[in-house]
Amino acid sequence: MGITDPITSWYIKNILLPKSEKIDVPGFILTEIGEGANKTYLREIAIPEEIFVNLEKQVEKKYGLSGSKVLYSIGKKIGYTNGSLMEYPVYGGVNNEEFLKFLKYIVYYIGAVCSGSIDYKVDVNNKRIEFTMEDYIVCRKNGLGYLFSSGGVAGMWAYMMGDNSIEAVKTSCQGHGDKLCKVISEPKNALKSHNLAYMDEENLPKLDLKKEYWEFNAIKATTYSKKSLRDLINSNIFSYSKGCILYKRERYFLLEAYAIYLMEKELEGIEDGNQILFGIAFDYAQKLIKDNKELRSLNFVNDFLVATGWGDLLITKKEGVFNILIKSFPWADFKDPRFFLFRGLVSGFVSEVSGNKVIFERFDISLTKDSFNVTLKS
Ligand SMILES: [Zn+2]
Repeated sequence: MGITDPITSWYIKNILLPKSEKIDVPGFILTEIGEGANKTYLREIAIPEEIFVNLEKQVEKKYGLSGSKVLYSIGKKIGYTNGSLMEYPVYGGVNNEEFLKFLKYIVYYIGAVCSGSIDYKVDVNNKRIEFTMEDYIVCRKNGLGYLFSSGGVAGMWAYMMGDNSIEAVKTSCQGHGDKLCKVISEPKNALKSHNLAYMDEENLPKLDLKKEYWEFNAIKATTYSKKSLRDLINSNIFSYSKGCILYKRERYFLLEAYAIYLMEKELEGIEDGNQILFGIAFDYAQKLIKDNKELRSLNFVNDFLVATGWGDLLITKKEGVFNILIKSFPWADFKDPRFFLFRGLVSGFVSEVSGNKVIFERFDISLTKDSFNVTLKS
């Protein structure tokens, strides 16, 4: 089991992952789910790990425990809906042996995408799982990990065990100087009896992907931009190794579109939550161009946004006003989205390239027959 099973690990990293992530279509990153006639895609966006590292740091610094609780809730909801989107098996719904086999593959998948290596111990009778991770995303850098360490694990395990009272606690962390990160997930009564302080979130969204999800997010030929993530990898701007996308030494993390909308909706639970997210995205994009002078052009900004999955993009400037049209922007069924993360990124990029502070405050949404379009104005 775990790190001692190099064959399975090799199979997932080298065979399964490259096939299931579709990265050769401009404007779209897709993960394949299902088989045969049921085969379909989930829409994803590649987001720098640094954004989540800073979001956790800043929210906790400003709001303390009430802020970290919101982050944990977001993580648990993302983990839970991800289980449902990826059609994870649920305990009791398949036989025990099959469940454990699936679990092993899922853990390795998470290991490949999120971590250097990962090991686990499971006790299904007590609905308990323990993960030991090395070089795991986000918490390795900030010692926090509410989103994808404790929260994300809780959501995934609650989904797989069909028990919303399952929570998770991080008991050691490389971000604090420990040798490895460790997360324990089990029903909250058990966590209590083990004297582990947990956060809780039992209000988990029931996901029902509507027909529109597939229509709006289906691959369409792009009009404006022709660069895919694969193209940027081929031209050595990004690298892709063992399920992990890197820009220079910075990790990028694939998040399903629904999760981004969900995150922004839940951040409304803290007064400045989305302003913090906007600011972090702005600073990240600005620094990326500052540190890499060769990228200082609107063409690069355009290619970067298209290749990381944000859709088909056209940046124009008229009488001092920048206008960005995005066709086939990632869609999920949320009311009144405000695109803080995306607008922050674009504002940071365009500000640094143009040498003036450009904030994309205004936006319009338009729907055509099968495309969700967003226009930003500075
Ligand atoms: Zn950690």
